Amino acid sequence: MYKDRTITSMSDYANKDVVTNQALNRQRVDIQMRYLELSETLFKALDPKLLIESFFLESQCFVAYSGIEYINDQFDFAVSFGEEGAHSLAYEISIADVDLGELKIYRSHAFLGREVRELEKLISTLAYPLRNASMYFTAMQSAYRDPLTNVNNRGAMDKILPREIALARRFRTPLSLLVLDVDKFKSINDLHGHQVGDDVLQSFASVLRDCVRDTDLIFRYGGDEFVISLSNTGLEGALELAERVRASIERCHQYSNVQMMLSTSIGVTELRDNDTAESLFLRSDSALLEAKRRGRNCVAYL
Ligand code: GH3
Ligand code: MG
Repeated sequence: MYKDRTITSMSDYANKDVVTNQALNRQRVDIQMRYLELSETLFKALDPKLLIESFFLESQCFVAYSGIEYINDQFDFAVSFGEEGAHSLAYEISIADVDLGELKIYRSHAFLGREVRELEKLISTLAYPLRNASMYFTAMQSAYRDPLTNVNNRGAMDKILPREIALARRFRTPLSLLVLDVDKFKSINDLHGHQVGDDVLQSFASVLRDCVRDTDLIFRYGGDEFVISLSNTGLEGALELAERVRASIERCHQYSNVQMMLSTSIGVTELRDNDTAESLFLRSDSALLEAKRRGRNCVAYL
């Protein structure tokens, strides 16, 4: 039985002058138990962000440090917890040539040799959970991405929009929704073929990406209909953005040998007190129908 489970740091043990064999054994078992607990916690975390956060919280029982940063360029994923410090340790993590990103550990004062060894041992327990999390991240990304335009798909919208609404309510910030549809898209397919139609959808999505902020979310709802959720943006700001998108689309586009004018109609609305994700979307979609009724290539709001 462990008398004191709060003694956890290897460095604490190293600083004891007199340690009996029995006490030493107990401490070794204690450390092994903590390692097992850490490993178990890490293996359970499939979300890479939660995984790094768990590692940050749990590993400090072994070595104290102030901040952690994890970057995986392959997945365009970066996350950090705590604070940076003047001293840092950086590790490239990989398993059998599979690159799993870079981990940086920070603190204000230098790391001692035995602390570095301890941290390296701890980071090695992170490798396999990180590989699992990366695989999960890839699977989630492809499940929620539209392969043609590389924006979020409708499944992602069903999952993310309620969360955006909950966040807006919690932090009492406005939230607006744009629903956009390419005008007369069917005739583009009919006149120039499906491939050119696909090219149009790709460049349409790329114009949307260029117009919005990093915190805004773009979804392909289906066919030639897209949705943009604008966090921290009221109706006025949403109408400004909608007009900017409309104007950016309204120009001559070149697709292989074909030149054509494109336009889009846009419906805009702002989150109201009793809205659900569905009612917010439906109101924005009704505004889009109104824009179509008015003759297309315009913005309408409800
Ligand atoms: P409106 O101005 O009223 O929107 O007219 P529209 O012709 O754009 O009508 P609508 O939005 O209903 O047309 C959608 C068309 O998009 C019909 C469908 O054949 C086509 N479509 C749906 N998905 C794809 C796709 O992935 N690629 C291509 N090329 N066409 C698609
Ligand atoms: Mg259309």
